[in-house]
Amino acid sequence: MTDEIVRQTQKLEPLLQQLSSALWQAAEPAGAEDASVRVLTEALRSEGFQIEQGLGCQPTAFRAQYGEGTPRIGFMAEYDALPGLWQERVPHPSGDKARAGHGCGHNLLGAGSTAAAIALARALRAGGRPGTVVLYGTPAEETMLGKNRLLKDGYLKDVDVMLAWHPYTQMRCGGVSHNAMNSILFSFHGRTAHAAADPENGRSALDAAEMMNVGCNYLREHIPEGARLHYSYVHAGEKPNIVPEYAQVWYFVRARTKSVLDDITQRVVRVARGAALMTDTGMEYRFLVKGTIRC
Ligand SMILES: [Zn+2]
Repeated sequence: MTDEIVRQTQKLEPLLQQLSSALWQAAEPAGAEDASVRVLTEALRSEGFQIEQGLGCQPTAFRAQYGEGTPRIGFMAEYDALPGLWQERVPHPSGDKARAGHGCGHNLLGAGSTAAAIALARALRAGGRPGTVVLYGTPAEETMLGKNRLLKDGYLKDVDVMLAWHPYTQMRCGGVSHNAMNSILFSFHGRTAHAAADPENGRSALDAAEMMNVGCNYLREHIPEGARLHYSYVHAGEKPNIVPEYAQVWYFVRARTKSVLDDITQRVVRVARGAALMTDTGMEYRFLVKGTIRC
């Protein structure tokens, strides 16, 4: 069986390259992977896979199934790109920074998993063996939303084993454990005013966001080894002469265990409250993803 799978995989090399190039060119960000899904599902359909597209609330999630009986072998394919990372296929930085790009090789990831599922289906067929191959197309990996939503909607549990991979600098099996993660949006509400003519009447939401980040950067020293905090500004005001009445920062908090993650998250929330107190602004926060597992 192993020889047959290897043989089928080698025969799929041209398809692998074709799928990988198509996904690279499409380079669609999380949740907008329409062309990428079309490319992958067409390849799977032409190999006899039954496709169910649009799973739960995600139009670019899909499930492709081939064969029947057990074992039920699952694969996961990712295909979303990161905003602002478009890169020409040259060995130096060059590209349109307004476009999304496959920063960590999700074009290879989607193509590789799809080709693996096809190779296994062909090997089962050639050997006349029972077994079901299930490939999940899991969108929005870069925002950590896709698989969580699929799990919530009851998917991903219908297989005996799920195989996944990620491009890396070495060819190896991963025996590592990944961090639990919270994705949280912090919003600050202040009061606008003219920053030169009337600053005393302004309460800057951007000041609050900045103070929160300063606080978290001090907090960073006192969290356990392996834990991570990182953030980006989502809203940071309009013009320098307008005191920003609204600001938003997006945080990822990561830690080895859920209990450590929850503890750090509560401390981050307290820092945000402190920043609001210091700046006389209001603060609210919302979890986008809670307790997910991700590299
Ligand atoms: Zn990745």
